[in-house]
Amino acid sequence: MVAARTRTDSAETVHTHGNFINGEWRPAGSGSTFENRSPANDDDLVGHFAASNLEDVNAAVTAAAEAADGWRRTSAVARAAILHKAANLLETRANEIGRELTREEGKTLKEGIGETTRAVQILRYFAGEAQQPSGEHYPSANPLTLLYTARDPLGVVAIITPWNFPIAIPAWKIAPALAFGNTVVFKPASYTPVCGVRLVEILTEAGLPPGVLNLVSGGASDVGDPLVRDERVVAISFTGSNQTGAELRKIAAERGAKLQLEMGGKNPAIVLADADLEQALGQVVNGAMMSTGQKCTATSRAIVDRSLADQFTTKLAERIAALNVGDPLEDGVQMGPLINEQAAERVVGEVTAAKDAGSDLLVGGGRLTDNGRGNGAFVAPTLFAGVDPSSRFGQEELFGPVLGVIPVDGLDEAVAVANQVRFGLSASIFTRDLGKALRFVQEIQAGIVHVNSETAGAEPHVPFGGMKGSSSYSREQGKSAREFFTQVKTVYVDPPPA
Ligand code: ADP
Repeated sequence: MVAARTRTDSAETVHTHGNFINGEWRPAGSGSTFENRSPANDDDLVGHFAASNLEDVNAAVTAAAEAADGWRRTSAVARAAILHKAANLLETRANEIGRELTREEGKTLKEGIGETTRAVQILRYFAGEAQQPSGEHYPSANPLTLLYTARDPLGVVAIITPWNFPIAIPAWKIAPALAFGNTVVFKPASYTPVCGVRLVEILTEAGLPPGVLNLVSGGASDVGDPLVRDERVVAISFTGSNQTGAELRKIAAERGAKLQLEMGGKNPAIVLADADLEQALGQVVNGAMMSTGQKCTATSRAIVDRSLADQFTTKLAERIAALNVGDPLEDGVQMGPLINEQAAERVVGEVTAAKDAGSDLLVGGGRLTDNGRGNGAFVAPTLFAGVDPSSRFGQEELFGPVLGVIPVDGLDEAVAVANQVRFGLSASIFTRDLGKALRFVQEIQAGIVHVNSETAGAEPHVPFGGMKGSSSYSREQGKSAREFFTQVKTVYVDPPPA
């Protein structure tokens, strides 16, 4: 069941990567670096990265501010051509970069390559989107007036991204920011900076002028904090934890910056009595366990009709116990490690607390250290039954491979339980009853709603975002991206007096 791999990576060259500022790769001003190690094997050193500070952030924001006018004045068609070329370049390197992604993040190779391919689709989509109509033509009270709206770029935007989708999330923020004429300072997550470096390399090779896209790597307080406080940064697009999101909300409100937040979820999958059980089982297990449960859209609550709860839970337990957990680069492995040792310990701590609080632990619950997994952040895929929906485990996001089953009586109770959390990112229902499915769609408080598919599915050309505490009301991707990364200008053109 378990894959071990003999590592030869120590023999590979370990690179030191700098910041990218004003069209040049350069070390942090202080000369400091930090290490990035694979979560699957602490001996596998992925690279060294610039440990930047305020001085580097300043230089990057200055470069972005100086490039802003020139970039704003380029045509959308020219910007689209660069994104299109970048998509093609990334496509030719998808296997190689997907592998690097897996090495630094820990999701399986299939998922790593899949995510990189998603980034290709995103770049391609925004190359097209840049050339779509962007304003509206209105009738005027004066029949001779030409009255229309146009969309202007915002200026310098900060893009701050998490480690769980290290290339797709940067792509879905950076591509629209650039497509609509903004310049960017990008801070990748410290646990996954390689993918950020690769995306910037590719966009640069595709022809971005110096200063238009800048990357500064480093920690939250040394890089993220000064970046979001810089008055020249007029907008911030952030995906990450609720706690950081709450801090950014204050900072942006105080200085009047435009803000987009994507944060956590406690996503439910409702399984009604008439569901196709086989299909529901497969989708719920995938939703809960793929990417080691570290997706903001992951399923963490299976809300199951009481009439089939025992049967469904037994089958869930069998499938979850049978998952092949190991080196994510290895063929056949279905689940890799968590992002790091602290995350693994935190999840095991939460599992222990949930067990102590009365939830019924059926599968997993601890660290996996045998069969070559002793050097990585491996946690067994975990299933609880009989979860109290109002308990801490029933309410809080664990961000790990942990699923809880909550039995309910019928649709109304299922939806009430599903909505009884502060989050509202994604939700699923499994049923053959169209009327019930439509009632669920109407009543559920979630920004992404699935009928008969898993909570984590998301396509790149449609809006993405959550309700309630999961988001900040704005949406990313698809046509919504233009709303965030532009501002409206209303134009009245009157003929001069005859
Ligand atoms: P995660 O658990 O996904 O890493 P975080 O919110 O801690 O979530 O981090 C997401 C991103 O936000 C990372 O790039 C991190 O360095 C950055 N970050 C964290 N705290 C701050 C902050 N106070 N200001 C700006 N950026 C921050």
